[in-house]
Amino acid sequence: MVAKITGLRTYDIRFPTSRELDGSDAMNPAPDYSASYVVIDTDAGDGLEGHGFAFTIGRGNDVQTAAIQGLEFAVAGRPVQDTLDDLGGMWRELVHDSQLRWLGPEKGVVHMAIAAVVNALWDLKAKRAGKPLWQLLAELTPEQIIELVDFRYLSDALAPGEALEILRRAEPGRAARLAKLRDGGYPAYTTTPGWLGYSDEKLRRLCREAVEQGFRQLKLKVGADLTDDIRRMRIAREEVGPDIRIAVDANQRWDVGTAIDWVRELAPFDPWWVEEPTSPDDVLGHAAIAQAIAPVRVASGEHAANRVVFKQLLQANALSYLQLDVARVAGVNENVAILLLAAKFGVPVCPHAGGVGLCELVQHLAMFDFVAVSGSMDDRVIEYVDHLHEHFVDPVTLREGRYLAPSRPGFSAELRPGTLVDYAYPHGPVWTSIAEGTGA
Ligand SMILES: [Mg+2]
Repeated sequence: MVAKITGLRTYDIRFPTSRELDGSDAMNPAPDYSASYVVIDTDAGDGLEGHGFAFTIGRGNDVQTAAIQGLEFAVAGRPVQDTLDDLGGMWRELVHDSQLRWLGPEKGVVHMAIAAVVNALWDLKAKRAGKPLWQLLAELTPEQIIELVDFRYLSDALAPGEALEILRRAEPGRAARLAKLRDGGYPAYTTTPGWLGYSDEKLRRLCREAVEQGFRQLKLKVGADLTDDIRRMRIAREEVGPDIRIAVDANQRWDVGTAIDWVRELAPFDPWWVEEPTSPDDVLGHAAIAQAIAPVRVASGEHAANRVVFKQLLQANALSYLQLDVARVAGVNENVAILLLAAKFGVPVCPHAGGVGLCELVQHLAMFDFVAVSGSMDDRVIEYVDHLHEHFVDPVTLREGRYLAPSRPGFSAELRPGTLVDYAYPHGPVWTSIAEGTGA
């Protein structure tokens, strides 16, 4: 009997984070961090499941969850081993399904649903291999890595041969970098101090604590009110001194001209990068801002819909830092393409994280990049936010401002069974107690 994938189970999981203004920024004043969560079951009898999710911020998580469930037709009944042996083929099948493709193409709810399923398949593959995902990826041959990538729409910027060349160049140093990663981890920066809804006192305390914890970079949300931003930036700079990098994040709030003017007002406080200054779709706008605010740098990508947008941002010299997201583009495979693009253009990748479980997942991609693609940690940091990690079976571990390399098999995507019950929306106990007015 060949073991088969038997189906998908999906869960609408929401956390009432808006009550504490955790995660508040200029465009998202009161998010309830949520996961459209999926479990892939098989009849292999080994007790292993694939876990994945899309991240949303509350309303619409039901729509996202339905979209994931709607992909069951494409995976149920398939042989487990053959499917996991050819995740490049599986990815193409999902992304190029002509009927579903009409709903994008390659963007939005369906693309994010594919991300959840693709990432869950990778989780299952890594568990079956008995390795953390970053290591599994980093031990593939350059040829196997190339097989994961769909070069359609990329070849004018990155041909398969060039990508292969990048991977082969990184090959000799892999073992040494793997050891270095296991010893010392990967640098992080923290967004914890900077949420817009926090008081000045809380900002001051959290900035101080961040430096004490070993972070060398932190990030403030900006873009709602210029006077407030100048005051908060002054407070942060006073607390951390001149040597700590302070990035600012506008979460798409500005038009191009406003972005340029606003950043000039903040420039005396030496912002390291300005993140998502305008619409994530506005490639030329990002490029105009980058040119106008230099030497302040532009960072973007957490809402870039797909590898084609990243290609254009890089071609237009619009980015100093590329911030891929683990669950917005279509999962591991598309992010491998984006890592290769970034390496080709020499732009450091500083992944987006936070939310629910994004830190847990994206650390694997940054570590794979270090070992097998860019070969460098220089000028690179993974975002860190200290919310909701306690809900994960294999939460991230930080020491002195660095992510330690995960050792447990899989993609670190698995939520605790109790969380799937307690935070189920709208009928889990956490939400029914809020509805009854008895919630915390
Ligand atoms: Mg951001």
